Amino acid sequence: MASVTLENVTKRYDDVTAVDDMNFEITDGEFITLVGPSGCGKSTTMEMVAGLTMPTEGTVYIGERDVTNLPPKDRGIAMVFQNIALFPHMDVYDNISFGLRLRNMDKEEIDRRVNEASDIVQLEGMLERMPDEMSGGQRQRVAIARAIVRQPDVFLMDEPLANLDAKLKVHMRTELQRLHDQLGTTIIYVTHDQEEAMTMSDRITVIDGGELQQMDPPLTCYNEPGNLFVAGFIGSPGMNFFEGTVAGSGFESEHFDIEFDPASMGVNEGDEVTLGVRPEDVYLADEGSSLSHPTDRIEATTDVLEPMGNEIFVYLLLADEADIDLEEPGSGSQLLMSVDPSADLESDEDIEVVLDRRKINLFDTETSDAIQHGLVEPTPVSGDSTTSAEAETDD
Ligand code: ADP
Repeated sequence: MASVTLENVTKRYDDVTAVDDMNFEITDGEFITLVGPSGCGKSTTMEMVAGLTMPTEGTVYIGERDVTNLPPKDRGIAMVFQNIALFPHMDVYDNISFGLRLRNMDKEEIDRRVNEASDIVQLEGMLERMPDEMSGGQRQRVAIARAIVRQPDVFLMDEPLANLDAKLKVHMRTELQRLHDQLGTTIIYVTHDQEEAMTMSDRITVIDGGELQQMDPPLTCYNEPGNLFVAGFIGSPGMNFFEGTVAGSGFESEHFDIEFDPASMGVNEGDEVTLGVRPEDVYLADEGSSLSHPTDRIEATTDVLEPMGNEIFVYLLLADEADIDLEEPGSGSQLLMSVDPSADLESDEDIEVVLDRRKINLFDTETSDAIQHGLVEPTPVSGDSTTSAEAETDD
């Protein structure tokens, strides 16, 4: 087991900067997921930890060792990729045990490790099969078992579940978590699938354009996204965004206003801000009355309804919006809400909604950085004459 540290790591290919000054520290035994859209630099980052790609600048440490110039075989890592070549002329047992046999490991120990690994990835009874007698998913499980038996300090996995069917993928997610719990080995896992990242990792590393955006536990990224990119990327369907301006009385946009005292929310009058709220934090006004901190009511008209079984996604058009662009969700004219399947709603109905103030995020529109998570006025402590709560304006 070992920690992994990247210090000012950059990788350039001619005119492309694949990874741009990446800095992070993965502690010993952590399960870390690198997540981001295709082309954001996830694989390149992983390849530099593996030793398959050399950084243009910067240093890679595994444990205390500077491994920047070491070949993969000397780094104490085992890798699993989406597309992995098994030896076609060897059966599953020989494929899994190949590396151990090369090292002349004791036959009994090889047996024990192969059986344990094949159990974990559900390959029992298939050890004598040849690769061409197996499905893509089964071959991938052989590759994972081959990494497990090596008992590396760090597992590097690049989209290892991408070729598995949906059911096996969900099963393998839990198996990988169990594997991690059992072995306690540091795992760096690459995926473009934010759901996979959310469900498995201790922390997720969100990358965009070769740059680290946020590295935090999944729920922190979900509830307290550090910027607009993370807010939009994590969570499906994504967060609703509305651009607006800070006025003396709070947030003002084309569609609705939300009252707050700017000073207590860390903003100033005139600031250009983007308000973000997740679909599940939008409520039908009557239901929202049970919220401890609802916003004022917002008028809306229901558009498309998407029943999902356990919830209904309702696309709302906000009132007084003349030119609604349905092709651009999140453009500001639409608000997506998730409601209980029992909700009695139809398309083209005029309704009122409220937002849960505790779950509203404010971002700086220009820099995209988060300013505030939750728009709940600070509760004045009784008897405390120094609160700013009496800063009210008469009009
Ligand atoms: P991801 O894994 O997030 O999809 P990659 O790390 O594979 O992204 O790629 C990041 C960027 O670097 C992309 O723009 C990609 O085209 C570029 N890139 C990756 N490998 C090479 C290479 N060998 N030569 C040139 N450009 C590359």
